[in-house]
Amino acid sequence: MTMLALRKTAPRPGLDFAELPEPVAQPGEVLVAVEAAGICGTDVHIAEWTAGYESMTAGMPVTIGHEFAGRIVALGEGALGVAMGQRVTVRPSTVCGRCAACTAGHPDGCTGRSGIGIGRDGAFAALVRVPALNCVAVPEGLDAELAAMTEPLSVSLHAVDLAEVRPGQRVLVLGPGPIGLGIALFAEAAGAEVVLAGVGDAARLATARAVCGATAIDLAGTDLPAALAAAGQSAPFDAVIEAAGATPAIEAGLLRLRKGGRLVVAGIHARPAPIDLTRLVRMEQSIHGAYRAPIADWSRVLAFMLRNTEKVRAMVTHRLPLAEAMRGFALSQSREAAKVILRP
Ligand SMILES: [Zn+2]
Ligand SMILES: [Zn+2]
Repeated sequence: MTMLALRKTAPRPGLDFAELPEPVAQPGEVLVAVEAAGICGTDVHIAEWTAGYESMTAGMPVTIGHEFAGRIVALGEGALGVAMGQRVTVRPSTVCGRCAACTAGHPDGCTGRSGIGIGRDGAFAALVRVPALNCVAVPEGLDAELAAMTEPLSVSLHAVDLAEVRPGQRVLVLGPGPIGLGIALFAEAAGAEVVLAGVGDAARLATARAVCGATAIDLAGTDLPAALAAAGQSAPFDAVIEAAGATPAIEAGLLRLRKGGRLVVAGIHARPAPIDLTRLVRMEQSIHGAYRAPIADWSRVLAFMLRNTEKVRAMVTHRLPLAEAMRGFALSQSREAAKVILRP
């Protein structure tokens, strides 16, 4: 039997479909029948082949797709803590089990990671083999497309945690893509007043207004200070969280931050950003990078989704069969879509 898979085959722009033999679970692994897999900004960057993903080259050709959920259909030898037929979502970052952090029992600190859908075959295919350790059980009441949102929402939750958002604070979120939308949701849940800004992002900002109570502003034809003033939001923010991956957003965000405030950078930037360090020093501001959520955050996200099922579902704007993945990528690139879910 063969299956359709969407792959990165060479270090240049583009993706290719391939018919591949069905994978076999190796020791310690399970085979997951993918029911829903989200297209992530990372996948779009990999497709466009923007700077920052060069390390993927060694693993090519590789099936991409790292935000997914499905059902366990085969168990490899010694696959522990999982059961046949179990519904799971999968943490895409696999650990090596050999480095100092791993052998000391701190897998969050592993230095030898490989990403499912980046360094090894991912979920834009009917079947994917993954370490049993990476499987997270999906609770009753969450269907596959919601469960596939766990990974991006864990990134959002982690960024909000690093911003140390407190009730009553004002938080500015730059970038209304799925990660930014999730950040707005979690900041709001933490009791903050949220402003979410995008540039030429009418569709995603409309999704934001449907999903949460954030003030959603479009900077098309204006700039951040003017748009904030027009929305009555000129006062400095306690925290600014950047999820745009746009270099100018960093300096613009720092300028809207209060003395002692935190800028959390969650976007992936193709270029270095200029930063006025003297101003940063005098304002005693700090900049934190947010990348991968700790393992423990996954259960917090699943619990949040159970309480906010319809808000999270509103983030899924398009559902397509895998064979139409390229249309899904175009929708993500055009920023018409919030989250596109593919169904292999
Ligand atoms: Zn992702
Ligand atoms: Zn390790």
